[in-house]
Amino acid sequence: MSASIIDGKAAAQALRDRLAIEVSRIDAEHSWVPGLAVVLVGEDPASQVYVRNKGKQTAEAGMRSFEHKLPASTSERELLDLVESLNRDDAVNGILVQLPLPEHIDAQLVIETIDPAKDVDGFHPMNTGALSNGDPTALVPCTPLGCLMMLREQFPEGIAGLNAVVVGRSNIVGKPMAQLLIAESCTVTVAHSKTRDLPALCRTADILVAAVGRPEMVRGDWVKEGAVVIDVGINRVQLEGQEKARLVGDVAFAEAAERAKAITPVPGGVGPMTIACLLRNTVVAACRQHRVVCEL
Ligand code: NDP
Repeated sequence: MSASIIDGKAAAQALRDRLAIEVSRIDAEHSWVPGLAVVLVGEDPASQVYVRNKGKQTAEAGMRSFEHKLPASTSERELLDLVESLNRDDAVNGILVQLPLPEHIDAQLVIETIDPAKDVDGFHPMNTGALSNGDPTALVPCTPLGCLMMLREQFPEGIAGLNAVVVGRSNIVGKPMAQLLIAESCTVTVAHSKTRDLPALCRTADILVAAVGRPEMVRGDWVKEGAVVIDVGINRVQLEGQEKARLVGDVAFAEAAERAKAITPVPGGVGPMTIACLLRNTVVAACRQHRVVCEL
């Protein structure tokens, strides 16, 4: 079998197009547009790129974008004060504090200070708790939400009853991914660094999600014939004799594509969907705050 390649860029563009239509409808009917505030502390180059892309795509969807760039020397108190002022600001419907934060700042405390109704990253314990309770109003972390949207596209007949294996149990990806798949009535196994015979476990998966952070760890013969493979990993590898680093996923793409029914590439798979889902969460959060129906 040769897998079809799941085009994350196209899926993200389609979602952003739907969002732009919804934003202009809200503007026409209610005379406001959703606003997203992104806070960046320090000069981490990767974070700077993410924040720039988020701001650009927010504006392109017709939404308001508020960027707060603070020096690495910002104190925890100063950051908490900013978050509290964004909580009070009616023009701001979503707040994202870019992680990682400098070591002297308690990231968990910052996350818990964000108003759960504006927590578009879905990391506040109120939202993680709501997700694990199967509460459909939970704001869900963007990366697993994007993965679920792409999975749904692959199974027009639905995913209930399928075996899903999620490799990785982080709070950002693995755990919320597993919760979402449980809510979809998949039979879910979460694997991690202590899992025994990971290849055999992966071969039971109709849906295989890899969120590990180890380049090409999941080999082709770990993949069940006809499985759908979602590769969340983003790993920068330096090849000998090549000047530029290359991005690879957690899955050995060419090998896995021999057996899978469909697979996400890296780059161009899960990554683009993550920002589109951030914008989607902002529109959903804004509609709830204004008590208007969201037609997404
Ligand atoms: P974490 O480092 O927080 O978690 C990695 C998980 O993988 C842990 O649960 C760990 O197990 C598990 N793991 C590590 N080694 C093995 C192994 N040998 N066998 C099985 N499991 C293992 O990473 P994240 O979840 O934050 O990110 C995972 C990947 O996804 C990274 O490459 C990251 O860059 C990427 N990512 C991509 C995003 C996107 O937008 N596309 C967004 C977020 C992340 P244990 O718990 O036992 O330590």
